Amino acid sequence: MRKFLAAFLAALLLALPFPPAFADAYRASPKLVIVLVIDQFRGDYLDRYRDDFKTASGFNLFLKRGAYFTDCYYNYANTETAPGHSTIGTGAYSNGHNIALNQWWDLSRNTKHAVSSVEDERYEIVGDHGPEDIGASPRSELASTLGDEVALATRGQSKVFGISLKDRAAILTSGHATNGAFWLDHASGHFVSSTYWGPSLPTWVEKFNASGRTEQAVKESHARPDHFYDDAGATPASVSYLLDFAQALVEAEKMGKHDTTDVLTISISSTDILGHKVGPDAPEQRAMIDAIDVDLNAFFTWLNTHVDGGMANVWVSLTGDHGIGPTIEGAATARMPAAQFDMNKVLASLDASLNARYSPGQKIRYMLPNVQPAVTLDPRPFMAAKVPEAEAEQAVADLLPGAFESSQPASPEGAVRLPTRSMIRHAYTKTQIAAGQVPASAEGQLILNSYTTNGGWYVLYSVGMYEQGQASGTNHFTPWGYDRHVPLAFFGSAFVPGIYHQPVEPVDIAVTFASLLRVNHPTASVGHVLTFALKPGQ
Ligand SMILES: [Zn+2]
Repeated sequence: MRKFLAAFLAALLLALPFPPAFADAYRASPKLVIVLVIDQFRGDYLDRYRDDFKTASGFNLFLKRGAYFTDCYYNYANTETAPGHSTIGTGAYSNGHNIALNQWWDLSRNTKHAVSSVEDERYEIVGDHGPEDIGASPRSELASTLGDEVALATRGQSKVFGISLKDRAAILTSGHATNGAFWLDHASGHFVSSTYWGPSLPTWVEKFNASGRTEQAVKESHARPDHFYDDAGATPASVSYLLDFAQALVEAEKMGKHDTTDVLTISISSTDILGHKVGPDAPEQRAMIDAIDVDLNAFFTWLNTHVDGGMANVWVSLTGDHGIGPTIEGAATARMPAAQFDMNKVLASLDASLNARYSPGQKIRYMLPNVQPAVTLDPRPFMAAKVPEAEAEQAVADLLPGAFESSQPASPEGAVRLPTRSMIRHAYTKTQIAAGQVPASAEGQLILNSYTTNGGWYVLYSVGMYEQGQASGTNHFTPWGYDRHVPLAFFGSAFVPGIYHQPVEPVDIAVTFASLLRVNHPTASVGHVLTFALKPGQ
């Protein structure tokens, strides 16, 4: 009897379709990795609205069945969309991937406008576009991504795609060796790409654009004609729209059905488009997050029947590209110090002071238009005045606190004027940062990690606490906790479900996946493998 039982068990073991003991991209374990990014999704939102989440496979996929990290902070000062997505994709900060801002001045490429992080004049937009629209590529991202490393390791057998409403979020998260990146034409709302990926849109994208789904989103959001991005983009209608596009992609490209692991990056921009207008504490933003929960539940439920082996064969990471500060009104109501500055006035004040010093009596423009959180110097008039870069940048850094103060409305007549709290805390010149001349402190590291060779002559500044440059709504670009805090969570068979309070960073995502998939870390990555959240034997 015992002999029979042993033989029976042995036969049973052989018959079971055993998954590989550990993950391995070369053998398609898992079948699909999804890097999910929700823009302007601050680290406290998941807990703040936890009771709202009624679905099983929306945010609860991560909160109840995944590894959830409550204390994930970016370790750099330039908390903007483009560097955030590049950081998630590459596991590096700006000093590694070289994307420090959404756009920067590069007079060797264009003297009329600041170049965007993904614009590439060698290519053209494929699909709907305006007459001024320029092609796009990951040319400015000087590091490989997780997707790139999987594509390299599997010699292109794995499929890698990136999608978003925003071009930079679709492109920089997914990388260079991708099979495609798709984002929205702002006016029509149709998905587009760039000739970097090929001369025409794949048939399934054309089909999606012609399916009537765009018109449905316009109707749901009451968007004005030709204002899809601004209007529909700020409503939950654009979230289900993007995730429906993700379904079309998974189906058409057979994601999760190949012999090696596929990688898909999905960046939901809607929270950012809305958040800038209403701020983090508005009921509209809560409604948006609740709607995303329902949409993610629908998407992952659908995915469960469309990937070989279902969700048991899918890993997902969830994070944000940056956090967000309160509105000036919101901060002031809580009696936190907040103030508004006017960047046009700051730059005008700098120009006036620089003229007084270098070209008395003249009205030369020494400063280029604003690309916060840096002020950019126009090298041409400084060179004409024989002022070298280091001296010019230092002059601007010295003038900057006064220029910010002068941008505030004058005190009412007769008001008691208290000693002012400076509106800016730090101002470091590019020359200083390049030479590593920053304090040997956590703050110094934030500044060093923000360094790039892009942007010409510049001075990187940080505001005092809750200062904002606009009269209404809010913005993100500071080195402070509210802008650096994002959630981090993983779902998948490799992770031990639970809540983790260890300090982690978004750079840990790419290297943790790379380690598990047995591929090289991305070229400039500085993250750590989150070993304490991995199941044994991985
Ligand atoms: Zn934003």
